[in-house]
Amino acid sequence: MPVTAEAIRAAAERIRPVAKVTPVMTSRSFDRAAGVSAYFKCENFQTGGAFKIRGAMNFVFSLTAEQRAKGVVAFSSGNHAQAVAIAAREAGIQATLVMPLDAPQAKLESTRDAGGRIVTYDRYRENREVIGKAIADETGATLIPPFDHEWIATGQGTAGLELMEQVPDLDTLVVCLGGGGLTAGCAVIAKSINPKIRVFGVEPEAGNDYWLSRQKGEPVEIPVPQTIADGLMTTKPGRVTFPIIQELVEDILLVTDAELLATMKLMLARMKMLAEPSGAAAAAAVLHGKLPPGCQRVGVLVSGGNVDLAMLSRLA
Ligand SMILES: *Cc1c(COP(=O)(O)O)cnc(C)c1O
Repeated sequence: MPVTAEAIRAAAERIRPVAKVTPVMTSRSFDRAAGVSAYFKCENFQTGGAFKIRGAMNFVFSLTAEQRAKGVVAFSSGNHAQAVAIAAREAGIQATLVMPLDAPQAKLESTRDAGGRIVTYDRYRENREVIGKAIADETGATLIPPFDHEWIATGQGTAGLELMEQVPDLDTLVVCLGGGGLTAGCAVIAKSINPKIRVFGVEPEAGNDYWLSRQKGEPVEIPVPQTIADGLMTTKPGRVTFPIIQELVEDILLVTDAELLATMKLMLARMKMLAEPSGAAAAAAVLHGKLPPGCQRVGVLVSGGNVDLAMLSRLA
């Protein structure tokens, strides 16, 4: 397996200068509504507002000095771009970010604020991977993929490592699933610490590429999904992440946009916690009874909290 518990522990040291150890929160009203004891790992409070800084830091600081000198490129709907911009600033190198025109304004702005150079594209008509690769070829910069790389999944796994240390007796772990970097990394470390833990991935119903791929037993590609969970709009499982998730994840759970909004509202009203739609996906699955029976002490990864004002007013 390309992502190991040992590598995740080493990554935890590598990312420490910038990535925070985020808090774990609980809520009686959530537990009552969901019928479980939930432990929320709050990556919405992470540097850059999402867990992505973990993978980005691990990647940038795993490069050789020579590679770093040529800079880095990333394509992303937002949080990965912002994380790469922050990691690059930390390393003192140039970052170019390929971002969709319709990315949330807050994500575009904070990426620019972190010192990244932004190139925009139309997500329904242009291929971001092609644009990213062209820039990499031109400048010699290293392309940092958003999820499908062992250094990325390894870095994301540090969130799971912290949670397992903060709450040692979890029987279940629920993680949202876009390309699968976060889920793969967290599954590897969680299973290594407690082989009996049950791990679930959560996708939006519209973006059910992993769910379909599971039925088929091989990666399936879907059209760009229409969902408010902009971090979970990937169209096919990763080559690195899919086999790990096939082996370690018990099931893929699906949530609707309405369930995401209802969960965001409950988290905000009861827990004073602002999750972005993708960040609320794991909690939405737990709240809406998608877990099988027997899950009691449930780790819930809140992956991010980058919400712009338009989304906030929609919630209200
Ligand atoms: C990137 C992202 C995801 C999806 O992560 P993957 O590693 O691609 O599965 C989920 N939530 C948020 C907030 C993200 O930024």
